[in-house]
Amino acid sequence: MTESEILPLLKGTPADLRVRVVETCDSTNSALKRDAATLPADTVLIALTQTGGRGRLGRSFYSPPGHGLYMSLLLRPKLAGDDLTLLTPAAAVAVCRALEGLFGVKTHIKWVNDVYVREKKVCGILTEAVFTPQGGLSHVVLGLGVNLTPPPGGFPEEIAGIAGAVLTEARPGALPALAASVLSEFYRLYQALPDCDLQAEYAPRLLYVGRDVLVLRGGESRRALVLGADSRCRLLVRYENGASDALSGGEISLRLPGGEP
Ligand code: ATP
Repeated sequence: MTESEILPLLKGTPADLRVRVVETCDSTNSALKRDAATLPADTVLIALTQTGGRGRLGRSFYSPPGHGLYMSLLLRPKLAGDDLTLLTPAAAVAVCRALEGLFGVKTHIKWVNDVYVREKKVCGILTEAVFTPQGGLSHVVLGLGVNLTPPPGGFPEEIAGIAGAVLTEARPGALPALAASVLSEFYRLYQALPDCDLQAEYAPRLLYVGRDVLVLRGGESRRALVLGADSRCRLLVRYENGASDALSGGEISLRLPGGEP
């Protein structure tokens, strides 16, 4: 995949993007964070593989060469602090729209930042905000990894039960088409934040509604019933003691009781 394959597909994208494709890097999020001071807003970095792809909470994201889209965006959002939490759901909806539009697959979202196809995680999103010493927002790096095709020999054992690919086999031009479609869908939503109706597209795709999950936060685990997502894409849950809560991203993870992904 090269810049010249992606750029013509970006016509009509509501932003002035600079797209750079590199063969490899440690993590596209880390690379953009290192260079952020000298780069303009809306710089997009895509790597054909990552040697140290990162997920939330210091987890790693497996990024084999040629089988996925590993892409980060440097954003300088004009959003109020509270509204920054909308960026991850907006990216999840953008990935869903792109996968549905290009490949006709049905997508689901595991709150808050994972996209699922055929009950397997095909995409992870990592949004990192960087603040100035005075506490103002400097920039945001939003990264996403999408497994487009299965790696030869399958996914590594530790994620084989969780990870899946969107397509069963490679299709010519699918990677640049995916990059361009995710970017145009994301920027359409991003430019309409905070007022666009994200909930309308996020909530219907939400996994586990009506089911019990474990809410993991800071080493604690609480069983809760998932009720849905609110207008800010917070997860609405009811704990066993009857108390309700609206969960915002941050350091919270969901698991199904019984250890399923
Ligand atoms: P959760 O919310 O379920 O705790 P997470 O959203 O924090 O997970 P991510 O940050 O998106 O997870 O990604 C890291 C995790 O995703 C890893 O711990 C691993 O379980 C899984 N993983 C790693 N590489 C891949 C991949 N290529 N495809 C799907 N899942 C992966």
